[in-house]
Amino acid sequence: MVPPQLPDTMLAVRVEEFHQPYSLRQIPTPSPSNLGPNDLLLKVGVASYCHTDSMVIEGEIAKHPQITASHEAAGTVLATGSSATDFPVGSRVMVGVPFHRCGSCAECQGSEEYKQYCTNGDYFGVTTDGGFAEYAIADAREACVLPDAVGFDTAAPLACAGCTVWRGVLRADLKEGQWLGIVGAGGGLGHLGVQFAKALGLKVVGIDAKDLALELARECGADVVVDARKGTKEVVEAVKGVTGGEGVEVAINVSGADEAAALSCAMTRVHGTVIQLAQPTEVKIPYPELIFRDIRIKGSLISTKQEAERMLQTVADHNVKVQTNFFFGLEEVPKLVDFVHAGKMAGKGIVVVDEEEQRRIKQAKH
Ligand SMILES: [Zn+2]
Ligand SMILES: [Zn+2]
Repeated sequence: MVPPQLPDTMLAVRVEEFHQPYSLRQIPTPSPSNLGPNDLLLKVGVASYCHTDSMVIEGEIAKHPQITASHEAAGTVLATGSSATDFPVGSRVMVGVPFHRCGSCAECQGSEEYKQYCTNGDYFGVTTDGGFAEYAIADAREACVLPDAVGFDTAAPLACAGCTVWRGVLRADLKEGQWLGIVGAGGGLGHLGVQFAKALGLKVVGIDAKDLALELARECGADVVVDARKGTKEVVEAVKGVTGGEGVEVAINVSGADEAAALSCAMTRVHGTVIQLAQPTEVKIPYPELIFRDIRIKGSLISTKQEAERMLQTVADHNVKVQTNFFFGLEEVPKLVDFVHAGKMAGKGIVVVDEEEQRRIKQAKH
């Protein structure tokens, strides 16, 4: 393989110090000749911003600063390590968040469905360099080839947000026609969860607390939407009213609001399950939900590669739409972050990094 000719340096959006804004810097471009056996050198097409990025910058997750931000990316393979034979040069891929898992711990050696729980590896854009750069290194064991119908602008926000809520819907383990509740149904994860659940034939009650979010949940196919601002009692009555008096079988909570986990429990039938995906500092649940109503709480972490591949095929087959806000070029990342902090962002903020991709998308928008 002839190594691609790349510039010596590239633009990257860096976490230099915790609690400080990102810095835009020129840093050395990863070298195609230094790739590990499972590494993919990517030209980043699109990378996006996830709530977890703000936790990285606050030092809540990352081991150390000095990394390139963004754990949601999609791009084109320019060069591959010796073992990454499933990814010919030119492949379009979505990056997986786990990076260089150890391969030997109990999680790596155990069931296929828990490999992302390995704590001996890194996480792309969280504990090692991520997608807010012109070029990035992805782990071929975690990356997925994109179906032709799925563009980079759709794929990048699926790398964490999509995988997380897709796995949440799978872990609900419901059959066609059963009721799933989603608390935060009109948010970045929620609106995808609604579409995924509908693609799997479930009935969906979407709960949110903003007019636009309720509207988005309805557009995404929620059978019923309920305004959380009515208060727990009314929400629970409304949910029971459409589910034969019992409540939903399973509720997924993607809202970080203080009372969201308790509401998720209250709208779920006795012996039902709540899947907690939001990451507030504390998940608050009144004890009677656990003891008198036997609600089971499950957490869930991103997804496996196999689950991600099935998600991407579902996105292609069911024309799942990601609500995105476009930013063009890494220089616009600070503006994106300002929008998020000002609460002006409905859906996901995505950055089109690749210049050709910028031209293509701008043309398509006209
Ligand atoms: Zn491991
Ligand atoms: Zn994330």
